[in-house]
Amino acid sequence: MKRGRGLILLLVAMCAALGCTQYRPAKVILFVGDGMGLAQREAARLAAYGPAGRLAMDQLDQISLITTYSASALTTDSAAGATSWATGHKTTNKFLSVGPDSVSLKTILEYARDAGYGTGLVTSTTLSHATPAAFAAHVSDRGAEAQIAEQLLATHAQVMLGGGRAFWNPRSAPGSQRQDERDLLAEARAAGYEVVQNAAELARIDLRQPHRLLGLFADGHLPFRYDRQNDQVPELAAMTRTAIEILDHQERGFFLMVEGGRIDHACHDNDANRAIWEAIAFDEAVAEGIAYARRKNDTLVIVVADHETGGMSVSTGCYSGFPRIPRQGAFPEHGLRLDSLLCISWTTKGHSGIPVIAGALGPGSQHFRGIKENIDLFPIMMETLALQP
Ligand SMILES: [Zn+2]
Repeated sequence: MKRGRGLILLLVAMCAALGCTQYRPAKVILFVGDGMGLAQREAARLAAYGPAGRLAMDQLDQISLITTYSASALTTDSAAGATSWATGHKTTNKFLSVGPDSVSLKTILEYARDAGYGTGLVTSTTLSHATPAAFAAHVSDRGAEAQIAEQLLATHAQVMLGGGRAFWNPRSAPGSQRQDERDLLAEARAAGYEVVQNAAELARIDLRQPHRLLGLFADGHLPFRYDRQNDQVPELAAMTRTAIEILDHQERGFFLMVEGGRIDHACHDNDANRAIWEAIAFDEAVAEGIAYARRKNDTLVIVVADHETGGMSVSTGCYSGFPRIPRQGAFPEHGLRLDSLLCISWTTKGHSGIPVIAGALGPGSQHFRGIKENIDLFPIMMETLALQP
């Protein structure tokens, strides 16, 4: 017994002396439900599973309340919100991973990339939209999406899936939103990316091989789940599954951000149907992350929101017309009539300033208790990936 322990100590000492490094893989999947407050979660839960049911994200039982204010306002926008997790700093609304002084702040994705981790961004909005952009771009105007697309490409995240092709195509291409003739898709191919533009192409990716993968599935945002009719746009869950399987090849581990970005858009319109279906589609993507984390035991899964949108509330008895589209995916019918169940009301067409929920599972999840600031997620994720700022 003693000799065995001595041998282990000797091996550890030799390893330290020789500089051999053995990495235990570490992984973080950050799920962001843009605009998803407690009411959006609750409405999705009731709609998908009924009063006694649970969403996939409800399995994350380490829970914190997260304050959402930015450096410039009590009510944040998505750019400052995402910057808080990406960099650990609060900034001015509309700023992306630069401080209030416009000086660049290194992001967790950039730290992870530089340390040899796989990195990925997945969203249902344009890839150059505020939330994914905050992890890979540094600008003081979130609206500069053509410039942000250039920075996304230069950051060289291993997997990028979403919408916003118009900002990657040259000015002469139909629907382009660029003011120059740069063809970022061609530049991506030259940089080693496989480029896919519809669900069938995404499904044909050989997941047994490591890839650099860029998927742009619409000129603008991806369509709302509620409006989809066999269009060749992959679901958020399918994009998430593909990203995870590609990043799983990285020995060191990975950082992946997945955004359900259009919950916010539907709530700006005070459109309960679309908001609820977007939250359900987001939850399906979360289920992919949780299933992976449970298989691997080395993955921190976080589900958070940047802010609540719409000042939504949920009560009963007055909301008509919910189940107008066929159910997709595996959500079971429950026994209650939804149109007599839900009453959704709103107080604003903008964001509200209330705290949001962060749930977590896996290594590092023990930090999720009590009330935290949005910037507190950054050091937790960095520590989980053994990264030093
Ligand atoms: Zn918004």
